[in-house]
Amino acid sequence: MAAYRTHLAGGTLAGLALGINSFIGGSVGALQLALVVLAGTAGGLVPDLDHDSSLPSRFLFTLAAAAIPALLLYLLPLPGLTQAALLWLVAVLLIRFPLQWLFQACTVHRGIFHSLPGLGIFVAGLYLLFPETQPSLRVAVAQSAALGYGSHLLLDHVSARSFEDRLLRRPRRGRSPFKLVGASPTSTMLAWGLLALLVLLIVTQQWPEGP
Ligand SMILES: [Zn+2]
Repeated sequence: MAAYRTHLAGGTLAGLALGINSFIGGSVGALQLALVVLAGTAGGLVPDLDHDSSLPSRFLFTLAAAAIPALLLYLLPLPGLTQAALLWLVAVLLIRFPLQWLFQACTVHRGIFHSLPGLGIFVAGLYLLFPETQPSLRVAVAQSAALGYGSHLLLDHVSARSFEDRLLRRPRRGRSPFKLVGASPTSTMLAWGLLALLVLLIVTQQWPEGP
């Protein structure tokens, strides 16, 4: 399993490559380039979220606890400062504690969400999150996230076997992260069901009148 720093570098490089490519192609501007790179970095870190004490898990939950309440305050027009402060506090506490515990209780490290359907769920979810954004930016962000997530799975796949293992043609220990099914049928069905739902949402968002 590759280390956190390796994944951070892999995801950021993937995001940079895609961002620069989109910038040169004219589909994103200079400011939007940062968003595209960030999506790649997030993609590189997200698969290890299910590792309860991993640095990415702690980092991303801390980031979510800061970013989501801020986004809520931006989206919801609130009458006064007291209400805004209260909403912010409740949102921070909810994300930092019950949500994180629930997530950790429901996931197994390197389970079905550390796999190809996991990649699909992350990318489709990210694409759906900003319906009002300009389509070329949404596509670039989704592509960068996919590339970052893919870089994570590839790094884990490669580092699961040492050079010596390869040389001696030893079989790999454990399963490749490029798996399509998880250890339990329930988690596999849940992941594929969620992915199908997200794809359906994208299709209905893209073609409200039907394709
Ligand atoms: Zn991993």
